[in-house]
Amino acid sequence: MSENKIPYKIYLEESEMPKDWYNVRADMKNKPAPLLNPGTHEPMTAEELGVVFCEELVKQELDNDNRLIEIPKKIRDFYKMYRPSPLVRAYCLEEKLQTPAKIYYKFEGNNTSGSHKLNSAIAQAFYAKEQGLKGVTTETGAGQWGTALSMACSYLELDCKVYMVKCSYEQKPFRREVMRTYGASVTPSPSETTEIGRKILADHPGTTGSLGCAISEAVEAATRTEGYRYVLGSVLNQVLLHQSIIGVETKTAMDKYGIKPDIIIGCAGGGSNLGGLISPFMGEKLRGEADYHFIAVEPASCPSFTRGVYAYDFCDTGMVCPLAKMYTLGSGFIPSANHAGGLRYHGMSSVLSQLYADGYMEARSVEQTAVFEAAEQFARVEGILPAPESSHAIRIAIDEAMKCKETGEEKTILFGLTGTGYFDMYAYEKFHNGEMSDYIPTDEDLKAGLEGLPKF
Ligand SMILES: *Cc1c(COP(=O)(O)O)cnc(C)c1O
Repeated sequence: MSENKIPYKIYLEESEMPKDWYNVRADMKNKPAPLLNPGTHEPMTAEELGVVFCEELVKQELDNDNRLIEIPKKIRDFYKMYRPSPLVRAYCLEEKLQTPAKIYYKFEGNNTSGSHKLNSAIAQAFYAKEQGLKGVTTETGAGQWGTALSMACSYLELDCKVYMVKCSYEQKPFRREVMRTYGASVTPSPSETTEIGRKILADHPGTTGSLGCAISEAVEAATRTEGYRYVLGSVLNQVLLHQSIIGVETKTAMDKYGIKPDIIIGCAGGGSNLGGLISPFMGEKLRGEADYHFIAVEPASCPSFTRGVYAYDFCDTGMVCPLAKMYTLGSGFIPSANHAGGLRYHGMSSVLSQLYADGYMEARSVEQTAVFEAAEQFARVEGILPAPESSHAIRIAIDEAMKCKETGEEKTILFGLTGTGYFDMYAYEKFHNGEMSDYIPTDEDLKAGLEGLPKF
């Protein structure tokens, strides 16, 4: 098909939407390491995991074999509210950069929660409802996950308790109110409502919280409340599975027009959007059918892939969760206060960690002022005001397109545009006022976090 036949936006028909999630673990020779019981250091059994998570989600978490997992009809119906999401050919950005590269992005921000997180929120809420539960608990940092989950829970009439990192609770009142609009209860973390919260407050008076701490509180609340389970918005195998809808739709759209990406780029917090976007392409690479250059992009201020270690670590501050083998900065690591936006979790998906350790993927870190420069450049030509998280991927996509300009190569670059940035205008304001700084942790800073790794 000739070049100019490719539309600015490719929308699949509803009938072309995926009916299955794709489980990349089925094609991995080296499977991701299992979650371990923090007490015995034995792999967590389904029964043990079932205390914290919904039954069906436990099955998905442990399923390393089934390649395709059917998406229940009720979830597909919900997806139709905001999917299929567009695959955009960034003609305007290409023009502005004067690059011979062809740039595409898959835009996941076209729903009220403003990010891809809704793809997994509806799935997790659905299985909780199916199990006959009353409600779910979770943590949220910047607020996108909590918003997505509260939307999904209100759709299914499920109670939703969100522990929101205290500094975000205070600095992002709008996110908080969106969650409450959808019926969620939102508690600033650390709080007095849990034992672990009270302990953290006693040990660190005045702390403004962290994701790891909010996770501990949400897990405690779930396991202590009859009819509740805990759900998590990233990192876990099941979340990557649900997010594969991003990649499967993208691949369907690209195949339709005979487009084959050379480079696939995504930002990496806990790894769910990146894992989802790359999964069907990674499957081809793992099966030896095609080759792609995958790039994970993380903040220089929270560099789990590029400066972390691959080891078993705690997933939370309170150490109540199972141990996961992942690239990690240590569960005590907290990014510097001037780090804006998300992508601040200390660890990384076990699936992506294994793929990275096996050399299937590259990782790069970028500094935040460079990220906001890319965000602004993108917004001015493509119209969408991107989330700071997504802008990490934009930064590297632009860098790669500029390399093509130097070499004359016509590479096809695909990146994930995970969300919009309307709730991040304080960060944009800092950038515009020249008050944004780049902080890169020193080796000393990182050493402190890594010393907290479990030893066994
Ligand atoms: C949560 C979030 C991310 C990072 O999470 P991953 O699990 O790594 O995908 C990226 N972009 C946006 C807009 C988010 O809300």
